Amino acid sequence: MSEICSTCGLPKELCVCGEIAKESQRITVRIESRKFGKKYTIIEGIDTKDIDIRDVMKKLKNKFACGGTSKEGKIELQGDHKPRVKEFLVQIGFAAETIDVK
Ligand SMILES: [Zn+2]
Repeated sequence: MSEICSTCGLPKELCVCGEIAKESQRITVRIESRKFGKKYTIIEGIDTKDIDIRDVMKKLKNKFACGGTSKEGKIELQGDHKPRVKEFLVQIGFAAETIDVK
C-alpha cells in the first residue's frame, strides 16, 4: 500500500500538491549586511505548511557550499548569492514569477 496524500487523495507518487505549492509561494530574496561586513542572503515567504523548508535549505547549502539556517519560513545563507539564488529555486521547482529579488 502506498501512502495517500491527505490533500488530493492520490497516492503520494502521483500527488503534485507539493509542486503546486511551490508555484503559489510569494518568495523574497534580499541581502542583509551584518557586523564585520558579513553578508547574508535572506529568502523569505516560504510557506512551511506546504514546503519542506529544511530540504530547500539543504539543497541551497549544497549548491552554494555555504552555511545557513532556517526558521519560520525564512532561510539565511552566509554570503551574497543573490545573482544565482533565483535561478536555482526555479531549478528545484519554484515558479520564477513568485520570486522577487530585491
Ligand atoms: Zn496531493
